[in-house]
Amino acid sequence: MAKTALITGASQGIGAAIGKKLASDGFNIAVNCYSEREVENGGNQVVEACRSCGVEAECFIGDVSNFDSCAEMVKAVKARFGTIDVLVNNAGITKDGLLARMSEAQFDAVAAVNFKGVFNMTRHVSGVMMRQRSGHIINITSVAGLYGNPGQFNYSATKAGVVGMTLTAAKELGPRNITVNAVAPGFIETPMTDVLTDEQKAAALSSVPLGRFGKPEEIAAAVAFLASDAAGYISGQVIVVDGAMSM
Ligand code: NAD
Repeated sequence: MAKTALITGASQGIGAAIGKKLASDGFNIAVNCYSEREVENGGNQVVEACRSCGVEAECFIGDVSNFDSCAEMVKAVKARFGTIDVLVNNAGITKDGLLARMSEAQFDAVAAVNFKGVFNMTRHVSGVMMRQRSGHIINITSVAGLYGNPGQFNYSATKAGVVGMTLTAAKELGPRNITVNAVAPGFIETPMTDVLTDEQKAAALSSVPLGRFGKPEEIAAAVAFLASDAAGYISGQVIVVDGAMSM
């Protein structure tokens, strides 16, 4: 039976690239989309691209910040594909602002998706993987969570929290043959970073020794390695993919 990968927030950006790469590696792909609108504006295209690799793929609508929505989504993916072998916790949002002006709503919104969302999905999928006695969980964190970033108090806090969840899950789930790792991207060209001003982009670029921003496919390559049998003895690690920006 083909293995299945469930990727959250996979209708665009890094999540879409991960879906296509894992499909090319032979995984059936569950493309999580936040809404019906996202299914139409991206999700369906990702599904078509995955299917063109000869695997099965389908969109699953679900809100990662909602515990019950995640439970339903995981149940639906398991019913459709039979197994869940890889979970990529990719869904994320930003609501940037300096701490002095950050509202409670700004903090809570980012925490709900980036932090609680990883708990919700990992909580439900780990049950499936524990029964299978195998699985790979890959969390998308950020260099902001490792080194901080002015204007991203909320975001960097959630991404640091994701690292903590990665380490503890690796220890708890290791005995069930489940690996848990994180990938920490630097500045990657996606809709998330498109909204930054030219000034902000220039400032970020000046701190990247490789002299360019990363591509979603370059994050997908690291994720695909961690999802492969070749990485079977790697767990509890954070792989930084940032063009040496944070060194
Ligand atoms: P993006 O905005 O293009 O994609 C994020 C996806 O998450 C979207 O499809 C969005 O709809 C989805 N999402 C948001 N809230 C959701 C919810 N409640 N339930 C389900 N899905 C939801 O951004 P991206 O750049 O592709 O980011 C992907 C991941 O990579 C995020 O976790 C982000 O924090 C992380 N990251 C990105 C960069 C970068 O430079 N782009 C750098 C470091 C880390």
